[in-house]
Amino acid sequence: MLRDRFGRQATDLRVSLTDRCNLRCQYCMPAEGLAWLPADETLSDVEIIRLIRVAVTRLGVEDVRFTGGEPMIRPGLVDIVASTAALQPRPRIAITTNGLGLEKKAAALRDAGLDRVNVSLDTLRHDRFVEITRRDRLDDVLAGLRAAADAGLTPVKVNAVLLRDINDDEAPDLVAWAVEHGYELRFIEQMPLDAQHSWRRDTMITADEIFERLAARFVLTPSEEQRGSAPAEKFLVDGGPATVGVIASVTRPFCGDCDRVRLTADGQIRNCLFAREESDLRTAMRDGASDDELVRRWQAAVETKRAGHGIDDPSFLQPTRPMSAIGG
Ligand code: SAM
Ligand code: SF4
Repeated sequence: MLRDRFGRQATDLRVSLTDRCNLRCQYCMPAEGLAWLPADETLSDVEIIRLIRVAVTRLGVEDVRFTGGEPMIRPGLVDIVASTAALQPRPRIAITTNGLGLEKKAAALRDAGLDRVNVSLDTLRHDRFVEITRRDRLDDVLAGLRAAADAGLTPVKVNAVLLRDINDDEAPDLVAWAVEHGYELRFIEQMPLDAQHSWRRDTMITADEIFERLAARFVLTPSEEQRGSAPAEKFLVDGGPATVGVIASVTRPFCGDCDRVRLTADGQIRNCLFAREESDLRTAMRDGASDDELVRRWQAAVETKRAGHGIDDPSFLQPTRPMSAIGG
């Protein structure tokens, strides 16, 4: 098991398949991109599958989510999903993607064993999509969403980040659109994880502001579904059954219930998005570590997880790795 000093058990593994991306969302990356990880420091498909096997069969991991960077651009994605689905006990498998390439791959991913997909989409307006992501690909994302729903990767979830004076007035339109299409929308508070360090506590859109904007058009009632370790607070929209979620990582942190652990594309275990330390399983593996040794190192990495991210502490320091290189 992966248990920390505070008794939390990590059962949800986030695997970053690459730090590269075909969009440049302004809350994530600078326009020019980043210095990508060198190929020889990136885990091979075989190495990734080995670590997922250790996590699932030895360490109690029940959920595996592929992310990045943009996981769709990893050539071996379908095979990695298939190998993960073949593990016993079979974990639930999900992917977080910007939706580009999903139109072509949704059916193959479902056939390989993918259960669920989260697609990130912050606006329904072309000009805003270009402003936020610096690429003109809105139609491709919408096509990806439709393909995911057609492939039965349901409920299709949509993640949206609101940015002040850019798309914060669009929250109700996004909800209406998601309800109409049967997508489960969740707003995520912007976090201090961008490579440019441009996040500001006093300008981010808070959960309270999101509720205020939504209340102007909808009646939201708290969903009775058990939240458990899920980060989203869920609400019924106009009595349901459609729901909307708000992930208030900054203003209403849920660290006390966190069940996540992360594996970066270069083989580092991170016990938190905001961790300042990592445990290097890539070097250990390449130096011949046995599965037992990997288990021991992984457990030690999780044990030292901090109680909370401490964004509001005066001593808070943003992690050196940006979100795209950690795996969001
Ligand atoms: N490229 C994929 C995507 O965009 O879905 C997966 C990786 S991305 C880093 C994962 C999620 O993190 C996306 O939903 C994205 O909107 C979110 N994200 C990125 N930077 C963020 C930030 N600074 N604060 C909050 N969420 C962020
Ligand atoms: Fe790429 Fe996702 Fe970051 Fe946007 S949020 S730049 S899609 S990794």
